[in-house]
Amino acid sequence: MGKVYLVGAGPGDEELLSVKARRLFETADVFVYDALVSTEILSMIPEEKKVIYVGKRKGNHVKSQAEIQEILLKETKKGNTVVRLKGGDPFVFGRGGEEALELEKEGVSFEIIPGVTSALAALAYAGIPVTHRDFASSFCVVTAHKRKEKDEEIDYVSLVRMGGTLVFLMGVSVLEEILNGLRMAGMAPDMPAAVVENGTTSTQRCILSTVESLTMEAKKAKIHAPAVIVVGKVCNLAKKLSWTKKRKLGGKKILVTRPRKRNEGLSSRLRSLGAQVIEFPTISLNPIEENEKLDQVLRTKEQRWYVFTSPEGVETFFAWLAERKMDIRHIWKTEDKLAVIGSATACELKKRGFFPDLMPKEYYAKDLGECLASAVKEGERVVLLRAREGSAEILKPLKEKEIPITDIPLYDTTVGGKPWLIRKIEKEFQTGTIDCVTFTSASTVKGFVKSFPGLDYGKIHAVCIGRKTKEEADRFGFLSVFAKEAKIDAVIDRILEI
Ligand code: SAH
Repeated sequence: MGKVYLVGAGPGDEELLSVKARRLFETADVFVYDALVSTEILSMIPEEKKVIYVGKRKGNHVKSQAEIQEILLKETKKGNTVVRLKGGDPFVFGRGGEEALELEKEGVSFEIIPGVTSALAALAYAGIPVTHRDFASSFCVVTAHKRKEKDEEIDYVSLVRMGGTLVFLMGVSVLEEILNGLRMAGMAPDMPAAVVENGTTSTQRCILSTVESLTMEAKKAKIHAPAVIVVGKVCNLAKKLSWTKKRKLGGKKILVTRPRKRNEGLSSRLRSLGAQVIEFPTISLNPIEENEKLDQVLRTKEQRWYVFTSPEGVETFFAWLAERKMDIRHIWKTEDKLAVIGSATACELKKRGFFPDLMPKEYYAKDLGECLASAVKEGERVVLLRAREGSAEILKPLKEKEIPITDIPLYDTTVGGKPWLIRKIEKEFQTGTIDCVTFTSASTVKGFVKSFPGLDYGKIHAVCIGRKTKEEADRFGFLSVFAKEAKIDAVIDRILEI
């Protein structure tokens, strides 16, 4: 038998996921998620995992509770480790208790991983301290949603008498009812009240008002679920403490299309500037295992220039050697040289103790080709170690000088991203919640277009790493710009500019 982890995914910001949940993302086999789990969080689930959407949003049940249980049972019976991913905390109005009882009944082992609940986090991100010694010494979290008509009414009198901060979940559609209930129970009409929509995400909005006027103002602002309603003196502190929009990229959502292994630097820096990041690799790299050509070239007698045009190339090359227990000392001739296209590739080599002899000023294939053409001496061979569909521009200057070249593909690139996430991201593009996309190679553009064939690219801002990548984006009509240098830092600068 496998095991079920009931995991709280938090309210939306992907960095509020717990360390424990993050570990499970790497180790679990199957993910079963609800509507409230953000795209950003889902995008962190590795490509190879099985992912099942079970929906559930007021009046829109994709799967019934019984069907969800059945899925959990079926998967654990196969011996799988299942992450049952829920918005916020699984035990705060998340039916986590019901699901855990069912598992217990069936004898399935489980663990509960708490999550950051929206009942607190949405307030924190709006700058509303749920308690404060001068204003509130307790708080109460209430559901405004009744399961059946005959369910108990909210006891407004008790809530008002407690005098603490009140937080209502699932209350947007009955906001007026709640606020009237409080007033009838004796709450002052000028008591501060707020509603926080999409708390902790790039689309967070906070309407600050009073018990008397909040209904009208929320209506005017067209506030929708998910939102929390907060009532109490602490709400006024948001005037001084609101902070999320003060971050350079606060309120922005960016889609990063690099392969996962490579995107961490870019994603985490964007996040540190306040952006929400969806990681959606639109290409994947598959190393070529049987590589006779490579085997042969390593045994030749000529002096060689080994040329790497991507960090992945370096990684794949050394992994290939390691797999075959080929010691670099037996391959290397003292006069052999190393060339790279740019600093990221150089960095991969340095990590392994190699300092490249040549790197062009501008990180383009054409520039690399030209530099090489003037550096390579009589009797030396250029060995290109790169993707199967590498740029032809590097070859031209070399061929003109009749330099012997061996072009060795190390990996294939397949385009297209996680199919189960495509619909959700497509919707975000259509509603305009994604502010820009980053492209770090022409193939990431191709992969994007393959994943989202129906989108209006003319409305999508694309920040490209270089001229070549921008040319590819322009073929499809993106609103594109390119970074001044083919470097991640420059990509970030360009994003900040636009
Ligand atoms: N278990 C969840 C709550 C589930 S009930 C938690 O701990 O957060 C669903 C309600 O949670 C929504 O109707 C809304 O009131 C609230 N909610 C969930 N995510 C939210 C968010 N990002 N911002 C504001 N409210 C949110």
